[in-house]
Amino acid sequence: MAAPTGDIGLIGLAVMGQNLILNMNDHGFTVVAYNRTTSKVDAFLANEAKGTKVQGAHSMEELVAKLKKPRRVMMLVKAGTAVDDFINALVPLLEKGDIIIDGGNSEYQDTDRRSKALEAKGILYVGCGVSGGEDGARYGPSLMPGGNPAAWPALKPIFQSIAAKVGSDPCCDWVGEQGAGHFVKMVHNGIEYGDMQLICEAYHLMTSTLGMSHDEMSKVFADWNKGELDSFLIEITTDILKFKDTDNSPLVEKIKDNAGQKGTGKWTAISALDYGVPVTLIGESVFSRCLSSLFDERQKASQVLTGPSPDFKGDKKEFLENIRQALYASKIVSYAQGFMLMRQAAEIHGWKLNYGGIALMWRGGCIIRSVFLGNIKSAFEKNPSLSNLLLDPFFKDAILNCQTSWRKVVSQSALLGIPTPAFGTALSFYDGYRSKRLPANLLQAQRDYFGAHTYELLNAPGKFVHTNWTGHG
Ligand code: NAP
Repeated sequence: MAAPTGDIGLIGLAVMGQNLILNMNDHGFTVVAYNRTTSKVDAFLANEAKGTKVQGAHSMEELVAKLKKPRRVMMLVKAGTAVDDFINALVPLLEKGDIIIDGGNSEYQDTDRRSKALEAKGILYVGCGVSGGEDGARYGPSLMPGGNPAAWPALKPIFQSIAAKVGSDPCCDWVGEQGAGHFVKMVHNGIEYGDMQLICEAYHLMTSTLGMSHDEMSKVFADWNKGELDSFLIEITTDILKFKDTDNSPLVEKIKDNAGQKGTGKWTAISALDYGVPVTLIGESVFSRCLSSLFDERQKASQVLTGPSPDFKGDKKEFLENIRQALYASKIVSYAQGFMLMRQAAEIHGWKLNYGGIALMWRGGCIIRSVFLGNIKSAFEKNPSLSNLLLDPFFKDAILNCQTSWRKVVSQSALLGIPTPAFGTALSFYDGYRSKRLPANLLQAQRDYFGAHTYELLNAPGKFVHTNWTGHG
């Protein structure tokens, strides 16, 4: 039998797998393609992959036999049991030092578990976050690999050549041990929820309080996209707002205001609660989607519950600029919270995360790509042990410059009755984080009052006491 020539095997021929294979092929790698439903292998070779170097396999044995050593097998299949099933099928066919990569949206705890279990068998396991959707997979995704670090030298040439580039920098680097890659991808998705919610709140204010037309709003977003808010999500919002249906009216207004979600934002919020990190903006963004999905209830409540008229009477141009600044300041808080969460998880799991590297991985290729991530990268490059993004001089000054506008937007929204949960929670977080004293002293007293939970005295650190607050018995 001829010597195997496959550089990497790829399991899963749905949209992500197919596109990633074609991307790898474009970069000179020989990919061996396999899928549970093997008729899809033939269809892929006869159509999308026609004329490429891609090889097909109709069994796991054939897939493994066609790969050079150390064998690299990447899965792009539905997260969950399919991943465990493929691992179980692969392990008996592989040798020590071979590599299995999961490029799907797996939960990081699953990746942690799989990575540890396979390490004991000598198989190198990698959980790799892939972002950028089908286009990213085809022409340059953001890749966030983590797991067994011994796998990285064998993956680096492939992953860094197929990843998106910012200048000559690939949006892919080693993230950290075990589930770190999937954790960072999860936080990326949570931040994506936050960015989208902030843009939606800006749109809500523009349309409901300023009465702007869709073409006007589109122009404003296009303008914003030339400055510090320059990002993929602002860019697509520009296109969406000006898009007309066949009757020449804005299509966006015909869409039911009932947001869906697949769960990664929720996972981020859950891990924020688990780790005790106040990632409030992502949490509010998840809850905003939940509130939107109470569609029928909201229709009824809108007939019963009243509030102020949303008409804005002040200077509209000035308010528009205030909204832009509120969005920017809130976005800074959201990323600061996301990096706080990663820092806490890294401490607990012993991951050595490279925060500047993570900002670079998100700088291109993925849904949250933006110029702003270049500023985050610079902040961590200047000070790799930066404890909080808000303390970096660039972001500290940026918030200082936006602060008055931000406060005006949050207070005006409340007065006009327009919900801006993400703008509001970001501002509350900022005010809480910069507070030398918070009212938790009273809260501690309450806990001690009803539950004898004790409290610590400011002037006697470490000393916990209980008081009989009623003076009885
Ligand atoms: P998908 O619809 O999530 O999954 C389809 C693939 O999984 C097919 O190859 C299918 O095989 C296989 N599969 C499903 N259940 C299986 C089972 N029980 N046993 C074996 N194989 C099974 O595909 P996708 O949209 O290309 O996404 C692939 C992965 O990337 C997912 O984890 C997804 O969350 C993640 N991801 C997707 C995107 C995106 O934009 N779509 C972006 C980033 C990450 P059959 O053909 O035999 O059914």
